[in-house]
Amino acid sequence: MSALFSLPGIDISTEPVDLICYSYDASIAPPSLPYAVAWPRTADDVSRILKHASEHDLAVIPRGAGTGMAGASIPTVSGALVLSFERMRKILDLDPKNLQVVVEPGVVNAALQKELEYHGYFYPPDPASMAVSTIGGNVATNAGGPRAVKYGVTRNYVMGIEAVLAGGNLLQVGGKVQKRVVGYSLKDLLVGSEGTLAVTTKIRLKVLPLPDDVMTLLVSFQDLEAAGSAVAKMIAAKVIPRAVEFIDRSALEVIEAHKPTGLPKNCEAVLLIELDGYPATIRKEAERVAAVCSTLGGEITVAEDRFARERLWEARRAISPALRNLNRRKINEDIVVPLDRLPHALRELRRMSEQSGIPIVSFGHAGDGNIHVNIMVEKESPDEYRRGLELVREVFAMTIAAGGAISGEHGIGILKEPYIEMELKEQELDLMRSIKRTFDPKGTLNPGKVFTSVPRADVWGSQIPLFS
Ligand SMILES: Cc1cc2nc3c(=O)[nH]c(=O)nc-3n(C[C@H](O)[C@H](O)[C@H](O)COP(=O)(O)OP(=O)(O)OC[C@H]3O[C@@H](n4cnc5c(N)ncnc54)[C@H](O)[C@@H]3O)c2cc1C
Repeated sequence: MSALFSLPGIDISTEPVDLICYSYDASIAPPSLPYAVAWPRTADDVSRILKHASEHDLAVIPRGAGTGMAGASIPTVSGALVLSFERMRKILDLDPKNLQVVVEPGVVNAALQKELEYHGYFYPPDPASMAVSTIGGNVATNAGGPRAVKYGVTRNYVMGIEAVLAGGNLLQVGGKVQKRVVGYSLKDLLVGSEGTLAVTTKIRLKVLPLPDDVMTLLVSFQDLEAAGSAVAKMIAAKVIPRAVEFIDRSALEVIEAHKPTGLPKNCEAVLLIELDGYPATIRKEAERVAAVCSTLGGEITVAEDRFARERLWEARRAISPALRNLNRRKINEDIVVPLDRLPHALRELRRMSEQSGIPIVSFGHAGDGNIHVNIMVEKESPDEYRRGLELVREVFAMTIAAGGAISGEHGIGILKEPYIEMELKEQELDLMRSIKRTFDPKGTLNPGKVFTSVPRADVWGSQIPLFS
């Protein structure tokens, strides 16, 4: 047994039941057993583990709730130690005078929202996984959510980070001040780095006062592209809703089959639009939204109260889990395009689906151009899976040609690594690789993620027995 297990005071397990629980995430990447799982309680625990891992050439895989969609928290190499933050879940300090909160990385997003709401504040980033995903994971993936259209993504709210570097040294970057121009922003570099540069142990976040009021509208369209056009036109009409979610016909059918929600069935797409602010401002904005949408043939209903609003959001959040109920394998991507190219992207996705005969279910945070593209292939057909992967390339090529990006929020992990060169130029990649080498010369942290390829063909073999 490795000397690793003599680290006193740190909970570590090599029990198969634990290893299995930490062998997969929410993506389609194949599970892979770690060597051990550790549950640190303090930054000092993390530091001791990283020092030890470095000395014994163990890989370290930081992990939040494992809701990642890119395979970024799967231990894909042998001798990997998963660092799970379930025992670092404290909200440490709410600082109303500076509109900030300090949390440990294992704090679940929704738990933070609940606590802040109690005090009259909110933290805008609201990934649809918020009931489970952690702030540490959200920071490492620069998570977005429906409210990103008005309020931005996680990076816009991270004020400071305490992290442990690969060799075990503690690093503190950023802090309480609203502005800072002192050297490079290492804090911003850590946000979205998918656990490959450092392990976050404390995070200082910006929070906002709760808005006075919220209004939620559901608009159904008989024409797919009209729904896409409505998004850019509403922004051009100088209304920035706090959320504009898009759900296409096939996604509506999937939700309805999973759990009837009362969402419209006989339409090509719906937009779920939410406005917030002062009641008088919201009313004015709602009139403008209604004017734009009805010109494009949209039919508008307003959620009457908090409960009706929550039902709509529950339906929206049910899409991803509902897709798993279909007897198909989903290859899910999260492209992002400029707002004025949304109708083009939606049209192209429909064309690709019709031409290939493979269903593509689309939904997402249309207000910021982010579409979740779910290519639903036959479960038992390796041939259709291969054709599905060809479609992924086609989707990415269309996205890049439209001035977009291959991931708006899920990140690269292992699943999108084979495509990263479609978007990033060699010079940019070289700079990124040299940053990784500077932070982590021995490649201890989350190896195989972002830059090193795991062939997509292996993903098909996700029936790999856990104990082979
Ligand atoms: C149903 C569903 C809906 C989703 N909706 C959204 C959405 O709306 N928006 C969105 O952005 N994403 C969404 N996601 C994807 C996922 O929830 C996010 O990527 C989330 O931020 C991951 O958080 P996690 O705690 O589960 O992290 P994990 O999946 O465990 O890890 C994700 C990454 O973070 C790293 N990491 C975790 N903790 C630390 C730490 N302390 N230090 C350093 N690195 C760390 C891991 O190594 C890994 O690279 C969704 C996923 C699901 C299943």
